[in-house]
Amino acid sequence: MAFTLLPLPFARDALVPYLSSETIDFHYGKHHQAYVTNLNNLTEGKPQAQQTLEQIIMGTEGPVFNNAAQVWNHTFYWNSLKPKGGGEPRGELAQAMTRDFGSFAKFKEEFTQAATTQFGSGWAWLVVENGKLKVVKTSNADLPMKHNQTALLTLDVWEHAYYIDYRNARPKYIETMFNNLLNWDFAAKNLSNAK
Ligand code: MN
Repeated sequence: MAFTLLPLPFARDALVPYLSSETIDFHYGKHHQAYVTNLNNLTEGKPQAQQTLEQIIMGTEGPVFNNAAQVWNHTFYWNSLKPKGGGEPRGELAQAMTRDFGSFAKFKEEFTQAATTQFGSGWAWLVVENGKLKVVKTSNADLPMKHNQTALLTLDVWEHAYYIDYRNARPKYIETMFNNLLNWDFAAKNLSNAK
């Protein structure tokens, strides 16, 4: 069974003006699609073609891992954004942030620092590790499930994620996602599933 590009959880112009349709067309339509196509080409006729994405991610390294992980990472990223998102989480997630970071502001500072300082291509994540919230950053296709962590939310900081709309201004992209698009409902659902 071939791997497929999952539909976006919103319309391609739903994140305007914070992420343009052109960014979505390239990031989802070209980059994300290319990882799916590459993964199908690399696994065609092999036992991996019958495995789940997660099984491939946990069981491989190299090009097969890179493409499988990037398929997973991007689906997770699209779900980490939503129109009229941003602001602060409420409920259990907010309480866990206060418990583990001190406050939402402290969490935001730590996440922004991770996303800004990830050198080159990669990802910033809010994860759960041993029952505790934590901010981590990963390079290239690397992701929390390879490190016994459960991902709650991610931000893609590869240049292709922001260059069309923000050029080289990665910090402005991060701040805009915090203010307008981060999907705390998705993160809260992942936290409740992590128990
Ligand atoms: Mn990307």
